[in-house]
This record gives sequence, C-alpha cells and structure tokens, in this order.
Amino acid sequence: MTKIVNHWIGGKSVEGASGTYGPVTDPATGAVDTKVAFASVDEVDAAVQAAKEAYVTWGQSSLAQRTAILFKFRALLDANRDALAELITAEHGKVHSDALGEVARGLEIVDLACGINVQLKGELSTQVASRVDVSSIRQPLGVVAGITPFNFPAMVPMWMFPMAIACGNTFVLKPSEKDPSASVKLAELLAEAGLPDGVFNVVHGDKVAVDRLLEHPDVKAVSFVGSTPVARYIHTTASANGKRVQALGGAKNHMLVLPDADLDAAADAAVSAAYGSAGERCMAISAVVAVGAIGDELVEKIRERAEKIKIGPGNDPASEMGPLITKVHRDKVASYVEGAAAEGCEVVLDGTGYTVDGFEDGHWIGISLLDKVPTSAKAYQDEIFGPVLCVLRAETYDEGVALINSSPFGNGTAIFTRDGGAARRFQLEIEAGMVGVNVPIPVPVGYHSFGGWKDSLFGDHHIYGNDGTHFYTRGKVVTTRWPDPADAPAGVDLGFPRNH
Ligand code: NAD
Repeated sequence: MTKIVNHWIGGKSVEGASGTYGPVTDPATGAVDTKVAFASVDEVDAAVQAAKEAYVTWGQSSLAQRTAILFKFRALLDANRDALAELITAEHGKVHSDALGEVARGLEIVDLACGINVQLKGELSTQVASRVDVSSIRQPLGVVAGITPFNFPAMVPMWMFPMAIACGNTFVLKPSEKDPSASVKLAELLAEAGLPDGVFNVVHGDKVAVDRLLEHPDVKAVSFVGSTPVARYIHTTASANGKRVQALGGAKNHMLVLPDADLDAAADAAVSAAYGSAGERCMAISAVVAVGAIGDELVEKIRERAEKIKIGPGNDPASEMGPLITKVHRDKVASYVEGAAAEGCEVVLDGTGYTVDGFEDGHWIGISLLDKVPTSAKAYQDEIFGPVLCVLRAETYDEGVALINSSPFGNGTAIFTRDGGAARRFQLEIEAGMVGVNVPIPVPVGYHSFGGWKDSLFGDHHIYGNDGTHFYTRGKVVTTRWPDPADAPAGVDLGFPRNH
C-alpha cells in the first residue's frame, strides 16, 4: 500500500487537493512506496491564512505560555528521537546514528528557544532627558516561512521554527519533497505539546508552493536553506517582494593541513568529514589542501581509512555510510569521478562501481578520493554533494589560504596545525563564515549563529543564535515622558526635539 504524506494546516493533517503528488523513494532499496502531496497556490494560501489567524492570539501570547509549550515539545522530541531518526533514514538514506545526530543538533535549537525570554529582554535607559525614559523592545513579524533542503529533514526546519515561534511568529514550512515525513512528525509533536492550531503549518510541494510563499503579501520573512542557485533566486525574489530574507546556499569546504599537523588526526578528521552522511552535508569537507611535503603521506593515510568504510542500508547498525538521495543524484556524483582523470586528477579511489548485495536498486556509490586536483577540474569547482574528496597541493600556508579564499563559496573551513600563531592568522584571514581549528565540521552550537559568507549565504543574518532572534523580530523604541504635575507647561515648540 502506498503511504501518502499530507499537508499540516491549522493543526491537522490535510489531504492534498491539487491532485499532484511527488514520489518519495527509499534510497536503500529504490522502492517508491510513499507519495507526497504537492500544494497548489490555493493550498499555500490556506496555510498562510491559518498562520495569519493564529498570529492574532499567538503574537500576543506571553513568554511564559510560549516557553511552556516549547519545554513540552522538547520533552516529546527527546522521547521520539528514534522514531524521527527512523523516518529520516527511510527517506533520506543516512545511517540511524547519523539521523540521531541530526535530531540532537535540532534539539539544541529548541533548548535555545526554551530560553527565548533571556534573548528577548529589552533595554531601558532612564532619565535620558528630564523625566524621559527610552526603551527598546523587539516584536514578532507575523507569518514567516521556511523552505528547507533534503539533507537534514529534521534539523534544518528546527534551525528555524523553534526560534520563529518562540519570538511570537507563526510559521509555514515547505520542506524538501524528497523526505517530507519528518516535518509532519515534528508538526504532530508540536500539536501534542499544546501548540495552538495554525501556529505551525507544513505545505509540501515544489516550485509552485515556494513561489507562492515568496510572493504572498502576508508572509513577512523567508528563511531558506538549500543549493546556491535556488538560494540566490529566493533572496532576489523574496527581497523584491519586500520580505526579510536569509538564504543559506551550497558549499565547498576546505581543510588546510599544515606540515606540522598531527597527520593521523588530520586523516581521521578528513575521512569523517568528507564521507559522513555520504558527503551530503553542507559542512562536509570536500577539499583537503595539503601544504608542503606532507601530501603523499596524508593521502595514503586518508586512503587507508577511507577504504575501510562500511557502506550499506542506513537501518543496518553495521553501516557507516548509506546511499545517496536519488538515482539521478547518484549518477551526477559518479560523473565527476568518471571525468576526473581526463581533467588532470589522480584517481586514488574510485567508488563508482559500488553496489550492495540484495539492494541492487539502491542509490549506491562507494568512496572516491582524487589527488593532485587542479582548481580547473569540475570535481573541484562544483559542490558535488557526494562521497568524493579532492586533495589539492600548496607549497605554503599563504598559497593555501589564497586558494581557499578564491573559492566562490565560504561556508565552513578548517585548519589542522599545532602552530597557534598560524591558526590565529587563519581565523582572521580566511573568508568563510565558520572556522574550525583542528575541528573539521565546525557547526556552531545553538547559542552561536550558523552561516556562511559569499555564495554560501544571501542576506545579512546567519541562522539561529542571536541572529535568529534578530531575524524573527523587529525593533521598536519607545520614548516616554511623564511630566511632574509641578512642571510648568512646556508650551508649543516647533524646533526639533532636543534632550535636556
Ligand atoms: P535545493 O536547493 O534543490 O532545494 C531546497 C529547497 O528548495 C527544497 O524545499 C526544494 O523543493 C526547493 N526548490 C528546489 N528548486 C527550486 C526552484 N527552482 N524554485 C523554488 N524552490 C526550489 O537543495 P537540496 O538538493 O534539497 O539540498 C542540498 C543543498 O542544500 C546543497 O547545496 C547543500 O549545500 C545545501 N545546504 C546548505 C546548508 C547551509 O547551511 N548552507 C545546509 C544544508 C544544505
């Protein structure tokens, strides 16, 4: 029987009315036993209307009411980690432990949202002029939308909606159509936690649904996470429609390994960060830059480790890496490896022929490692988003930094070294939004914001942390004067207000 994933509007599951559905594939088996409703413009409008009506009350609700619900949601999320991880593995393909990791990192943002009262504390200056006080407060925007990618179907929505609703907004989520079930599970848990109907809504679909959210006059802000071309489009279109936008895009994350680094630790880190989640992470390391004479030794250490990775279905506890999201994506990833030698790369490991016995229709690809990759190679220039690691060589630290800074992407980057001075220079000189020092995937904790530079983020707000609170609220400054009854009347004064 085919499972159907419905929208979630106004606090309940709503069947698709457009008659259009998309297939949801189990990447390990290739089976399509789930389909997801694709929203029409009218269905998106219904979700925005539900959110708009809910905002009337939710926008006025107390911090105590909002955080009490978030605390309950946190407890439910904690109790449902496994159930969510199973849904993620079934539709995304990542291994169960990795899916649990994504739930845990999403939960960190719920933790932050539970303490939103501290972040929303206003400022007060008393007696700025005679009997005049000034306070600065932040208020919600109204209905806000989130559009999210396939690779973190639970965590990335949780980068957005806990902060948005904690700040008093109502939310419409358009998750990836490739793995939509986790978002519906999150909606059910929010409802169970007591969230009023309409505060959180989910509409599934494709460009039709996204475009309606981008132009809808009642949507005040759009948070997007996905590939760079779509991020650029979202930023341009939603901005042109007068909305506040944060659009996080793709990446090509480099790891600079200096000659003094612990090469075993660097190789462990490179392999974990390149091939974890089959490379389908925006913070995956996809390019290692080996500085000086260590290149051959480092590549050998990476090869030894990478060859041992166990690839198989995500629900098999023995698997360390699962399949890719779709067959089309699998074939695209393979094409970079197939073309690599002709572009001047040394192919150290070629994973393109890999299959898993008993799962012949799964979207499998093995581990690929390319060495001496020229910057002109497509395998270097594009975000591959698969288990393909490029190693580049640089003579010096300066050459390595220049190489990294010439990339159009600037999401995350890492340096591996024992030299504190070099690490400090790197922090200041590198053009990326998130930097790791001997940490390969420097995903910030919830109370520090996440976001890249250059083509990895369009807009001026990073996501979650203080930036999240800022993005989902707008400032208001109140100037108050309570004259003393003994004061002489101020009289009419047409001059510009002065403080005295
Ligand atoms: P994607 O850009 O294809 O899709 C993201 C969302 O946009 C989905 O909901 C999708 O339905 C929608 N969409 C796709 N094409 C569209 C179009 N033409 N018009 C309007 N909407 C459209 O991304 P993906 O393949 O789902 O996810 C992988 C990408 O996301 C990678 O590039 C990865 O680096 C990036 N990503 C970035 C971050 C980050 O924090 N910077 C985090 C996770 C993923």
